[in-house]
Amino acid sequence: MITCENINVSYSNQAKALEDVNFSLEGPTITGIIGPNGAGKSTLLKAILNIVPHNGNTVIDGQAATKRLSSIAYVEQKSGIDFTFPITVKECVSLGTYPAVGLFKRLKSKQWEDVKAALMEVGMEEYADRQISELSGGQFQRVLVARCLVQQADYIFLDEPFVGIDSVSEGIIMQTLQQLKNQGKTILIVHHDLSKVESYFDQVMILNKKLIAVGKTEETFRKKNLIRAYGDTIFIGEEVRHAS
Ligand code: ADP
Ligand code: MG
Repeated sequence: MITCENINVSYSNQAKALEDVNFSLEGPTITGIIGPNGAGKSTLLKAILNIVPHNGNTVIDGQAATKRLSSIAYVEQKSGIDFTFPITVKECVSLGTYPAVGLFKRLKSKQWEDVKAALMEVGMEEYADRQISELSGGQFQRVLVARCLVQQADYIFLDEPFVGIDSVSEGIIMQTLQQLKNQGKTILIVHHDLSKVESYFDQVMILNKKLIAVGKTEETFRKKNLIRAYGDTIFIGEEVRHAS
């Protein structure tokens, strides 16, 4: 279970990026975090991961989150990742075994087997010896999900994993995440395509600096909450029209 109590984040001299965010999330689940640009979605993941300074408490399974960071696998928003880093696909996936193995330590053959199995899971085994710089965006995102698999973390955080990737990769990733959920994992995905929310997520968190709503998708992904997050001009299929 992840619990956040009174999370506040302010970047230097700016207005608050997150204000009094409180929630408890009980897994296994796939939870979508939605909200407009600049709503603090990435900041929320980073606060739980203790990457940004914040006030309030972040608790994982009853312990301070800072003591449980190794139980979280994290794929950051694509803008933050260096694609040109000279590393092969299998080396990139093997980084998920750190801290179990330790950086620059040799992997045992069992761990290479885990790397290979993870690459097969996401349909990327044929690319094991390629440089990551040779991959398409979707292939690279599948490799990053494979890295989460070998990490065997209880919690998986993905920040906008589907931006700019092909639909085949998106489908493979969602299928893999569904299996992970069935194995008991708790998965948080920052996502901006509202049309997929109902098919992808069993829970949804709606954020706009403050937490607007969190809960089962069918109860939470509602016009009233979306208007509070996005304003009253949002348009979602048949459901929400310019509601002036
Ligand atoms: P989202 O992921 O929902 O688009 P972010 O969490 O990235 O939103 O950002 C929330 C707010 O904090 C935005 O106003 C953004 O400009 C600001 N912000 C994010 N990161 C930084 C940073 N490193 N320094 C200063 N301001 C930041
Ligand atoms: Mg973001």
